[in-house]
Amino acid sequence: MSHLPPNPSQPEPGLSHFPIFLELARRAVGVIGDGAAADTKAALLARAGAEVRRWSTPPDAAAFAGLVLVIAALDDAEAVRACQSAARAAGALFNAVDQPAVCDFQVPSMIERGPMTIAIGTGGAAPTLARTVRSRIEAAVPPAYGALARMSQRLRPTVRRLLPRDGDRRRFWQAMATGRPADLMLAGQPIAAEREAERLLADSTPPPPLVHLVGAGPGDPELLTRRAARLIAEADVILHDALIGPEILTLARRDARLIDVGKRCGRHRHSQADINALLVAEAQPGRVVVRLKGGDPFVFGRGGEEAEHLATHGIDVAIVPGITAALGAAASLKRALTRRGVAGTLTVATGHPQSDGAEPDWEALGRVGGSLAIYMGSRSAHRLAAELIAGGRPPETPAWVVEHATLPTERTCHTTLRLLGNAVASNRFTGPTMVLIGEALAEPVPPPCAATVATATERSTSPACRSGAPVSA
Ligand code: SAH
Repeated sequence: MSHLPPNPSQPEPGLSHFPIFLELARRAVGVIGDGAAADTKAALLARAGAEVRRWSTPPDAAAFAGLVLVIAALDDAEAVRACQSAARAAGALFNAVDQPAVCDFQVPSMIERGPMTIAIGTGGAAPTLARTVRSRIEAAVPPAYGALARMSQRLRPTVRRLLPRDGDRRRFWQAMATGRPADLMLAGQPIAAEREAERLLADSTPPPPLVHLVGAGPGDPELLTRRAARLIAEADVILHDALIGPEILTLARRDARLIDVGKRCGRHRHSQADINALLVAEAQPGRVVVRLKGGDPFVFGRGGEEAEHLATHGIDVAIVPGITAALGAAASLKRALTRRGVAGTLTVATGHPQSDGAEPDWEALGRVGGSLAIYMGSRSAHRLAAELIAGGRPPETPAWVVEHATLPTERTCHTTLRLLGNAVASNRFTGPTMVLIGEALAEPVPPPCAATVATATERSTSPACRSGAPVSA
């Protein structure tokens, strides 16, 4: 029986705590206790401009009048409770160090970058995790962000005056946060950054239209490139395939327009012509338009056609490569696609006929050897396996079928070229499915250690699967 809730990928409803940043300048707060923890809290409150009142033991209830918040750092549970009820009676928010059960609020883990404060809280559920997350964020947000935030603060009134239009202002702040000024500030050149910001302010002509053709990888959001993740987060409009999972789309801005061009509209799917026309219509000066595709945009993704179409309309394209499904599947299987002395070629092929009916010459590919990665190949698996064998590929060549590679719903099946058609048919793969064929895939790399043998055996080399019978994930 599983100890996990049925669907751990679903976000929990509701917030455990409501995060706010309190304005404490010249407001009275209380700290009770005389240890190091009390000193730290008092110092922090003082830095926020609060007027800190200190007691080493709980004062009379009257002393709590007018306090905005009270923090007790006391060992004596009885004394803590007395402070709690006095604080409550006075209408002050209460916190006791290391005693989450009696707290009205938590003091989060913090990162300070000038006027920007990043606070991380787990409501006491996982303080160590909060510290880990904090060090990751610290690495991702270097101290120069503080200077960037201060520069933004200084420029704010000028920007409001010089750029009255919403769109212009948003573009300017976007450029400040991610463009040249940010690059220069992060490179330790504050003066050049300031000059660049002024130049941007003086010239607010929007940049010419541009569409980013972005590969989203095989499915696991961790396999997005950093550039893909950044563009998804910055986009005004995202035109995405049906295969792009909700976890990746949650990276988008709340006000971004998400258009599922893989979805049926009315009775018809968006045709490629519709998508091309939509891309041209959406590409407007200054708008960040992302065309998001599964895997890599240039591997059976029709990215080339879209790029050409945009170019004929004078619209620039930028390409962000992604991890293609074959690589995601091989990584999940821990099997190499090339191997010295075993597989010196990797052929990438589609099992789905092109619009003109053209198909790869499977018999010829049967003579090539090496590894073969077949996209969209599950439906025609039976026929193409027979043709590969007719071309000379040994029937016992190892073959793998991987559905939903890199996603929690991934299913894999190990078989041989001879049994490939049966394996695909009996497992009813209905999701995106990758077929990998070749001797290099026979053994996992590195060789299985004690801990992985069980899963490898269970998942992949089950006799049922070899005979084409159903497998589970
Ligand atoms: N541009 C994509 C391929 C698009 S064609 C890429 O580079 O991966 C769509 C086909 O890709 C699917 O039919 C399937 O064969 C394969 N595919 C895409 N995502 C997959 C996944 N997560 N697992 C297995 N196959 C996948």
